[in-house]
Amino acid sequence: MSAKLFQFLDVPRQPPRTVPVAVRVLGYGEIGGDFASPQAATQAERCIDCGNPYCEHACPVHNYIPNWLKLVQQGRILEAATLMHETNPLPEICGRVCPQDRLCEGACTLEQTEFGSVTIGSIERWVTDEALRQGWRPDLSKVRETGHRVAVIGAGPAGLACADRLRRAGIAVDVYDRQRDIGGLLTFGIPPFKLDKGVVSTRRAVLEDMGVRFLLEKDVGRDVEFGTLLDDYDAVFIGTGAYTFVDGQLPGRELQGVHDALPFLIANTERLLRDEPASVFDFRDKHVVVLGGGDTGMDCNRTAIRLGAASVTCVYRRDEASMPGSAREVNYSREEGVTFLFHRQPVAILDNGHGQVRGVRVVETRLVDSGDGRSRPQNVPGTESEVVADVVIQSFGFLPSPPSWLAAHGVELSPSGKVITGANGRLPQQTSHPRIFAGGDNVRGADLVVRAVYDGREAGDSIAALLAQKSALGVASAG
Ligand code: FAD
Ligand code: SF4
Repeated sequence: MSAKLFQFLDVPRQPPRTVPVAVRVLGYGEIGGDFASPQAATQAERCIDCGNPYCEHACPVHNYIPNWLKLVQQGRILEAATLMHETNPLPEICGRVCPQDRLCEGACTLEQTEFGSVTIGSIERWVTDEALRQGWRPDLSKVRETGHRVAVIGAGPAGLACADRLRRAGIAVDVYDRQRDIGGLLTFGIPPFKLDKGVVSTRRAVLEDMGVRFLLEKDVGRDVEFGTLLDDYDAVFIGTGAYTFVDGQLPGRELQGVHDALPFLIANTERLLRDEPASVFDFRDKHVVVLGGGDTGMDCNRTAIRLGAASVTCVYRRDEASMPGSAREVNYSREEGVTFLFHRQPVAILDNGHGQVRGVRVVETRLVDSGDGRSRPQNVPGTESEVVADVVIQSFGFLPSPPSWLAAHGVELSPSGKVITGANGRLPQQTSHPRIFAGGDNVRGADLVVRAVYDGREAGDSIAALLAQKSALGVASAG
């Protein structure tokens, strides 16, 4: 029997230390600490290599987790990085932002014991950072160029994953994005204390080295005709995200001091990238109320803390156990000083008489069985109260925002605006138009980075398969 099989009995689960709260709230630096090399190997050795790796099943991209943990144990970091990229083109990013407590680590066999899961996410992050630091790059030396060309619209995780896969298949890729940099929500939505923007820049350099061409500040439909792309390329992948704000229709939402979550986070990140002062988002001495209990709500909470708020209260209509986001992010919010008000439904935003917000009226809720497995909050009559607020941030989620040119080119959408893919025997991520593929939030609705990566990866593989089939049949390339 291996001496290391029961390592978890002697070595406790020990994620890297996070930056102390008193320091982290002073700025926007990443709060996740790093392993030293021997710690990563020791933590990897806690894996008991279950015959049936639940971690791998629960991972949306089905990472070969026990296999790369073994390579880390043996100090074979570059090989571990290569193996990670077989399933996930953005492992350093998923290592940072995945809600591992709900995915791989939540499913780890050791999590079902008193010993706690293997620190899978931190190891994934450490391996990729370290490999890239040592100069690791994907080996494309055996790739043969096919002469095919694909346009990717959207440089978010879905588009980036698709581009990576296409280059590995010898297909030329042009990625169009309306923003001035790549990353989509990785760059402009997720705050820097969760994901340093330098991490995305490093990935951009890797992709460019692979031959991916980025055409930025190009809004497809405005600066470039979608029909032209369809004519010029062999296939098109659409990873345009979900940006329609869910409006809670609260009376008073037009008042001064009320912000919507995503524009608030984007504007704050933009001004940080430009190294500008907080200006309109100077929350010093202000009482901030965040409405909504998802991951975006947690990002708003923690950004408001860093903007100097006197208090931050997060209002959520269910209980803590029902919160849709990562428990880790809720804990970070709480550690950084956020107060949670559970079982409260906001019913109105209140005016101070001068068009400025002065509070939020809430009503208590109780959870009732909805019959579909998820309890439904029901307002309790006669329990209204007011929460004092100088600033209110509404974070009720996002819906797909399908560009008008999609339907115009015969791409089938669901009634809620999601792009329909893979139906009626089509290839994974293929839309109702045979040469148009889609993935990420525009197909699923607001979801996770790792699921966007999965879709992009699958789309890349489907496109490669389709184009290989065309070549075999002697169909000429576009362009
Ligand atoms: P996006 O990342 O939205 O990228 C879409 C890209 O398409 C954008 O760059 C956009 O500019 C471009 N685009 C759109 N239309 C056009 C056009 N017509 N022409 C050219 N370009 C266009 N997920 C996690 O897993 N962990 C987290 O911690 C996490 N935190 C989040 C925090 C916030 C504040 C938000 C809003 C989301 C968070 N998510 C998180 C969700 C995650 O960011 C998304 O699920 C993911 O980014 C979706 O990827 P995507 O590629 O589909 O779309
Ligand atoms: Fe190792 Fe946990 Fe995965 Fe089992 S579930 S293989 S113990 S990481």
